[in-house]
Amino acid sequence: MIEPDKNCSKCKRLKKFRDKNIKKYPDWFNGAVPSIINKNSEILIVGLAPGLNGANKTGRPFTGDYAGLTLFNTLKKYSLLKGHYKEDGNDNIRLENCSITNAVRCVPPKNLPKADEIKNCENFLKSTISFHENLKVIVALGLISHKSIVSTFNLKQKDYKFGHSNKHNLSKRIKLIDSYHCSRYNINTKRLSQEMFDKIFIEAKKTILN
Ligand code: URA
Repeated sequence: MIEPDKNCSKCKRLKKFRDKNIKKYPDWFNGAVPSIINKNSEILIVGLAPGLNGANKTGRPFTGDYAGLTLFNTLKKYSLLKGHYKEDGNDNIRLENCSITNAVRCVPPKNLPKADEIKNCENFLKSTISFHENLKVIVALGLISHKSIVSTFNLKQKDYKFGHSNKHNLSKRIKLIDSYHCSRYNINTKRLSQEMFDKIFIEAKKTILN
């Protein structure tokens, strides 16, 4: 599986942002965040990009910010996570039958990667997906992640409409389930409720049984 170097410099703007953050927060991770991988997983969750004060600080996807709290609590509820999550990442969590990655591996300014940055990271996503030989379900958190996934399968975007709970065939073996991103913004504005988020993982678990 190909992972980016911690100091990947493919995206000039993201590298510049990282250099600024290294100066400002020298004790933070400040690098391309590696995925949480279980090779035999049937479920892969794809987020957007590391949060500045979350994964960019701790070095683990979704660890340290609000989105992560929502995601890890939900995974635990559906037995996809064991152990006790701590925001600083010094914990004993273990993902069960799932892996977590991001469409973009480096923190982007304002949480918004540009089109070329998403493209630059696509190879890493592609490699992460194919590494999982037993993969049956990919959960896309948000539109950017959805589009990146569709692109790695060389499928036409117009045939794959993003919508919360939408389910698509990516290949004979792999289904895509879309979810609104579990960001603080989406939760606070009630775009995404806990009930709606639960539905995604209930469906993912049902799908792997088929
Ligand atoms: N943290 C991540 O690693 N990814 C997201 O999409 C959001 C927060």
